[in-house]
Amino acid sequence: MNRKYKIIVIGAGASGLMFSSLMDEKEILLLDNNNQVGSKILVSGGGKCNVTNGVVKAKNYIGNQRFVRNIIKRFDQYALLEWLGHRGLKPIERKNHQYFCQNSAKELVDILKKESSSKLIKLNTEVLNVVKKSDTFEVETNRGIFYASHVVVASGGLSFPKIGATSIGYEIAKSFDHTIQTCSAGLVGFTLQPDEFFFKSLTGIAIDVKITVNEKEIKGALLFAHKGISGPAILDASLYWGKGKIVIDFLPTLSLISLKSSKKYLSRSLGLPSRVAKTFLEQLAIEDKASNTLNSEEWQKLEKLKSYSFSPAGTFGYSKAEVTKGGVSTDEIDASSMMSKKVNNLYFLGEVLDVTGELGGYNFQWAFSTAFVCAKGIK
Ligand SMILES: Cc1cc2nc3c(=O)[nH]c(=O)nc-3n(C[C@H](O)[C@H](O)[C@H](O)COP(=O)(O)OP(=O)(O)OC[C@H]3O[C@@H](n4cnc5c(N)ncnc54)[C@H](O)[C@@H]3O)c2cc1C
Repeated sequence: MNRKYKIIVIGAGASGLMFSSLMDEKEILLLDNNNQVGSKILVSGGGKCNVTNGVVKAKNYIGNQRFVRNIIKRFDQYALLEWLGHRGLKPIERKNHQYFCQNSAKELVDILKKESSSKLIKLNTEVLNVVKKSDTFEVETNRGIFYASHVVVASGGLSFPKIGATSIGYEIAKSFDHTIQTCSAGLVGFTLQPDEFFFKSLTGIAIDVKITVNEKEIKGALLFAHKGISGPAILDASLYWGKGKIVIDFLPTLSLISLKSSKKYLSRSLGLPSRVAKTFLEQLAIEDKASNTLNSEEWQKLEKLKSYSFSPAGTFGYSKAEVTKGGVSTDEIDASSMMSKKVNNLYFLGEVLDVTGELGGYNFQWAFSTAFVCAKGIK
C-alpha cells in the first residue's frame, strides 16, 4: 500500500500549483495527467498569460455574485500582483487593464514550480476515481491508488482536451452527491446558420462591434473566421448565450442620420473596412452610391447593420473554448475554505466550480483566489 499523504491535489494547473505554493505543509502530493505542470498557463494569453486584470469585480463573473465577491476579496488582483512581484514577476498592464507576463507564460509557471518544489508532483498520472473510506480518501489512478486524509480537486474544466482536460472533477463531485450545473463551452466562437455564411468571405478581418445577448451589452472586436465568428467581443458574448438570437451593431460609433446629407459613397462612409462594407451592401441589396441619394426603403435596409439579429448555429466547442461554463454548484461549497458542505475534507478550486470569468485575466484570478482561500482554510 502507498503511504498516506495529508493532502492530495488533483491537477497541477493554475489553482493546484498556487495552492501548493501557498502551503507550508509538506505532506502534499500533486497528481497531473500531463507530462508537465501548468499546461494551460503555458498556452494562455497568446503564450504570455493574461494573469489578472486591474479591475476585478464580481460582475465580471457568471455565478453566485456573493460567493465570488467573498472569495476574490480575500486574494484580489493587488494581492496577486504583490505576491508575484515579491518573486520577481512584474506583469505588464496592457489594453483593458489586462496584466500579462513580460516575455512568456513560462515566467509564471517557473515561479509556481519553484514555490511548490518541496511538494511531490507525479506527472503522467491520470486520476480515474476517488472514494472515501472512513476518514481516508482513496485516489485511484492509472499508476495505482494513493491515499490521503484531504483531497483538493483542482482538475479544471473540459476545454482543450488535447492538453489534459478531463471530466474527472465533475465525476468526483457527482459521486459525492454534489449538484453539477450544466456545463457548456465558454469564451468561444460561434458557428453560423446558412443565412450568415456570407460572413465567411470576410475571414481574417476584425471590426469593432456592439453585441447584445440576453440583455447584456458587449463592445469590442469581432473577428470573421473560417469556422464562423470569433474575437474578444464574441468570446465574451458566448458566456451569456444559451440558444437563440444575438444582436450585433456593426456600426457602433455611427449614427445613420449623420449620413443623410453626405455625398460620400456609402462604402466609404460606414467606417467599415471596404471589403466588409461592400459585402454587407451587396447582401442587403443596396447599391453603393452617394449616401444622400438613398431612398427610404434603402435607409430601412441599412438600419439592419445597426441591429443585425440572428441565431448562431452553435459554438466552436470545447476544442477551441477557453473555459467551461457551469460546474460544481457553489451553494454546496464553503466560501471560507472551499470545502464541500457535503463531504468533510474534500475541496474544489478553480474552473471546476460553477463560476466563469469574462475574457481579460478573470479566470486565472479566480483560480488563484480560490487556491488562496483553500490554503488558508484547510485544516
Ligand atoms: C487557450 C486558452 C487560453 C487561456 N487564456 C487565459 C488567459 O489569458 N487568462 C485567463 O484568466 N484565463 C485564460 N484561460 C482560462 C484558464 O486557463 C483556466 O480558467 C485556468 O487554467 C483554470 O485553472 P484550474 O486550476 O481550474 O485548471 P487548469 O489550469 O486547467 O488545471 C487543471 C489540471 O488538471 C489536470 N487534469 C485534468 N484531469 C485530470 C485527471 N483526470 N487526472 C490528473 N490530472 C488531471 C489538467 O491536465 C491540468 O493540468 C485560457 C484557457 C485556454 C484553454
